[in-house]
Amino acid sequence: MSSTCFDRIAELVTNRRELGDGSPLGLRRDAAVVVEDGEVVWVGDAGAAPATDDHRDLTGRCVLPAFVDSHSHLVFGGERVGEFAARMSGRAYTAGGIRTTIAATRAAPVEELRRRAGLLLAEMRRQGTGVVEIKSGYGAEVATERRSLEVAGELTAETTYLGAHVMGPEFADDPAGYVTLVTGEMLAACAPLARWVDVFVEDGAFDGDQARAILRAGAERGLGARVHANQLGPGPGVQVACEVGAASADHCTHLDARDVAALADSGTVATLVPGAEFSTRSPVYADGRRLMAAGVTVALATDCNPGTSYTTSMPFVIALAVRECGLTPSEAVWAATAGGAAALRREDVGHLGLGAAAWLSVLDAPSHQYLAYRPGVPLARLLTAPEGVTARAPGVGGPGSASQVASR
Ligand SMILES: [Zn+2]
Repeated sequence: MSSTCFDRIAELVTNRRELGDGSPLGLRRDAAVVVEDGEVVWVGDAGAAPATDDHRDLTGRCVLPAFVDSHSHLVFGGERVGEFAARMSGRAYTAGGIRTTIAATRAAPVEELRRRAGLLLAEMRRQGTGVVEIKSGYGAEVATERRSLEVAGELTAETTYLGAHVMGPEFADDPAGYVTLVTGEMLAACAPLARWVDVFVEDGAFDGDQARAILRAGAERGLGARVHANQLGPGPGVQVACEVGAASADHCTHLDARDVAALADSGTVATLVPGAEFSTRSPVYADGRRLMAAGVTVALATDCNPGTSYTTSMPFVIALAVRECGLTPSEAVWAATAGGAAALRREDVGHLGLGAAAWLSVLDAPSHQYLAYRPGVPLARLLTAPEGVTARAPGVGGPGSASQVASR
């Protein structure tokens, strides 16, 4: 293993108050950071770092923890560009569109699922994302849910069993039967491959009681809880998430005062996914300002999926969150890094404190504020990754491409 010094950084975002200016981003100007054996081992002033094997001059650039994308659906067959175009022509989105992807995912060979998920992960890496959470959920039957999690597990340790994405088409008249499957045979097949269990709580998907049963069954198998909550309208999702101690309630677009209070009082992170609101032309975005004011921990994620948010770009999500959710540029960058780590209950990522995993990204810009200031411009890329971690991505995004990124 070797050590590398990233030196003469115009602005270093550490997300550690004590390492910087005392703000939540822990900013340091004219800084250096040393990475050794896949960890951050030194942070300090430019030109003052200890001797290292390798030295990189990053004059004029901003370095920050790689984005933590805590909500994605990268394993699927087919795409839905026609549905998107129709919706942009005035047709409203309903949860029914998911069934198109379920049929295509069931029909796809595993090599195809693996290849396409790997390409999407590589897209993420090229835009500065490190750790990614990946859900199943386009099988809605045992074999495809399990196959999806096998593919997800080759790409990340943050795998989520989302058998409860939408009712399986064979169970249209038997929702109780589908919940029995999701909490029984499907869970037994999928739990060994998953870290998390998730439920889409919405009219047309799963109600509060069904969600409680599914999350409880997952917990009995050792899975942490996450919830798709209050996306399309008011509902019990946030309350259920807070009640069961879920790591995160995701979407949070339609909240009442009781929901905001529950999030503030619980340890549950509110993960905003404004890419979904953008891509569905939602008249309403999640009110990030209100959540911040209430003291809720806020994360940002892409929700990358073929139906309602087909973006892999955390910089795009940051720009949207500033423009549409009322976050400041600094709050949005924190939410996309430290917030995502909190949503995954990870203490080793989302910051550049000593001992942090060496997931670093760099901006071709002098400060983090440019991410919102220059929307749609490819400023961010992964700078370095802990060796061995990206090796899980087959073909693309693997150790070769990570080191190519690092040496670019
Ligand atoms: Zn989602």
